Amino acid sequence: MTLTFPVSIIEDRSRTSAALSAAVRSLVEALERHGTPTEHLDTPSAIQGSSRLFIQSSTIVFVIPQRDLAPGAAADDRLDELTELVQSVRAKNPYVPIYLFGELLTARRLPDDLLAEIEGVINAYEDTPDFVARTIERQAREHLETLTPPFFRALMKYANDAAYSWHCPGHNGGTAFLKSPVGSIFHGFFGEPMLRADVCSSVEDLGQLLGHSGPVAESERRAARTFGADRLFFVTNGTSTSNKIIWNSIVAEGDVVLVDRNCHKSILHAIMITGAIPIYLNPTRNRAGIIGPIPRSEFSRESIQAKIDANPFITDKSVKPRLMCITQSTYDGIVYNAAEIREMLDGEVGALHFDEAWLPHAAFHEFYRDMHAIEQDSKRTMRSPVYASQSTHKLLAGLSQASQILLRDAEEPTFRESIFNEAFLMHTSTSPQYAIIASCDVSAEMMAGPGGEALVGDALLEAVEFRRAMGRIQAELTRQDQWWFGVWGPESGPHDGLPDRAEWSLTPGAAWHGFHNVDDGFTMLDPLKVTLTTPGLTVNGEFEEFGIPGPLLTAYLAEHGVVVEKTGLYSLFLLFTIGVTKGRWNSLIAELHRFKHAIDANIPLEDCMPRFAASRPQYAQEGIADLAAKLHAAYRERDYANLSTDIYLREPEMALLPGQAWNTMTTGKVENVPVDELAGRITSVLLTPYPPGIPLVVPGERIGAHVVNYLKQEEELERLFPGFGGHTHGLVDGPNGRTVPCIVED
Ligand SMILES: *Cc1c(COP(=O)(O)O)cnc(C)c1O
Repeated sequence: MTLTFPVSIIEDRSRTSAALSAAVRSLVEALERHGTPTEHLDTPSAIQGSSRLFIQSSTIVFVIPQRDLAPGAAADDRLDELTELVQSVRAKNPYVPIYLFGELLTARRLPDDLLAEIEGVINAYEDTPDFVARTIERQAREHLETLTPPFFRALMKYANDAAYSWHCPGHNGGTAFLKSPVGSIFHGFFGEPMLRADVCSSVEDLGQLLGHSGPVAESERRAARTFGADRLFFVTNGTSTSNKIIWNSIVAEGDVVLVDRNCHKSILHAIMITGAIPIYLNPTRNRAGIIGPIPRSEFSRESIQAKIDANPFITDKSVKPRLMCITQSTYDGIVYNAAEIREMLDGEVGALHFDEAWLPHAAFHEFYRDMHAIEQDSKRTMRSPVYASQSTHKLLAGLSQASQILLRDAEEPTFRESIFNEAFLMHTSTSPQYAIIASCDVSAEMMAGPGGEALVGDALLEAVEFRRAMGRIQAELTRQDQWWFGVWGPESGPHDGLPDRAEWSLTPGAAWHGFHNVDDGFTMLDPLKVTLTTPGLTVNGEFEEFGIPGPLLTAYLAEHGVVVEKTGLYSLFLLFTIGVTKGRWNSLIAELHRFKHAIDANIPLEDCMPRFAASRPQYAQEGIADLAAKLHAAYRERDYANLSTDIYLREPEMALLPGQAWNTMTTGKVENVPVDELAGRITSVLLTPYPPGIPLVVPGERIGAHVVNYLKQEEELERLFPGFGGHTHGLVDGPNGRTVPCIVED
């Protein structure tokens, strides 16, 4: 293996003798003669670039500062500094070989806590530079070998060995692309390694994802240990597929399932596919439209029984729900005390499924203790196994679609591997994309050891520093009677460092969250999920005089290269992943300043949002502040914020099971009903308003008058302000306006 990373040599040049410096230079020359990349740095610059340097080195050689002529306190200070530096490398990178290089006299006096962290001490004058260089190179190679987890290592080896293949994919390691001009552009863009590594599942060296054997299985076992699960399975079609696999391995037709009303649509699809009877856990909402937690009382046996009793589709009222599923980390970043839920529902429900699409990082930091599904050192459930599905690609370093299923079984084992595997096969392609699997493998490996805690800790720190910076700007601008954006969350305080867990708990009565019925200790906001609020609407749902609707800011930011995760009426949602950097959030703040300036100066859209103005010429000449004011007035007049919150607070009547509604759809007993005539009709499709992008009515449910009213307001707003009125997925444009496919009732 050639060394991809350099050997880093770190020398405080102000503190080495001419002789020692010459020895260091000879070593660097020897390494370079062997073709080994090196990086020779002065200590101060090494400290500045520390994160990158300490992680992306194949070996680090620290040159021991020269002993003072008169031994004393000053000399020991230098060694203390060196010890600190070495320890800070170790905290981020436990395995990189570290050598000390210096004079023997000094080496004899090295403190024990320094020696404990390193590979060895090299006497600068004892061996030839060539010999020392070879020793370092061997160590570096061995180190790099150990870094790659089994599947990724096998895939790289296979791709590098360049076997001629007679199997699919048909592009044959990329060569097919080279036979056409456009194909050559594709080849050049993605590069040869990626295409060589795109192989099919008949390559035995790589094991079988679908059968969980060979290197893939070894990597899955490794990842299971890293995430604290009994079993872990890589999935290549996203958590959408992970969810269906879990459900299809557990739930049968007619089973009762207990489901978060604000679940992802893949869970609703799972309900349709399995033919389950859903009863819903209902979250609260605050008036800013933020989805609040499901209250603790919803998980009680009494509440569940009452829902079973009230449901006309359930004939056996003593039935035990087969599965519970909640969105662990809601779309606004609220997480539940999973330890408490496990305890409450153990034995009351067949299996517990936490949809942790947004929470794969929680296992790696003390901050999330008890607030995620699977924790190695927590009490095992007695009878109900715990499943989690996680989108590796959403917060960790997975490629799109990288996902994983985690299981921690109950004391009384329930897992039936053969059935689970059939469900796995039912939903996965027989040609999985190996680059996605490799990214599952690598992102799990990145989280192993102290790396995971450091990465999550860094992301938490960046998120609170962003929040603090926004708070400081707000305080300053408020003093000047100016407006600024808010950030939903507790006061992050003036203190430095990691967030304080207690502050992030949603406690009853705390003003910041705006929820009226929260339970102490039951829920917490994940600081990494940042809801930015624009002026115009308070958390209590009161419209203010001055307002800037969120969709306008989203459109502005998109035009300037900032794409947000989702938009509310007066809010935007941003995600601090492990990939976030100070530079990135500082640029965002700079962009917010420019937006503020555009508003304050009422710059015409054609100047501050030229591309948007070109696609919507009706706004081109309009000042951005004038447009914001008109939009705000229109939302306010209609009390649109409360309207769009209220539609979620009433649970519609279930006239047909979701699965039955789907069957009706496929047999064609549906008609498109105009919005005006929708009240009381049974929808056969999912209706999902954007913002906020949460399913509102599920197939088989009757559409209430309040939903019709909302759809009409939305239509009216979109007519008045094209591009800003919002839209609802599921509606179909007809010759006389929008319609919803509804079930034909006899
Ligand atoms: C995104 C998401 C999913 C689906 O995950 P993909 O990896 O995009 O398929 C499932 N559940 C929740 C809660 C999600 O947010």
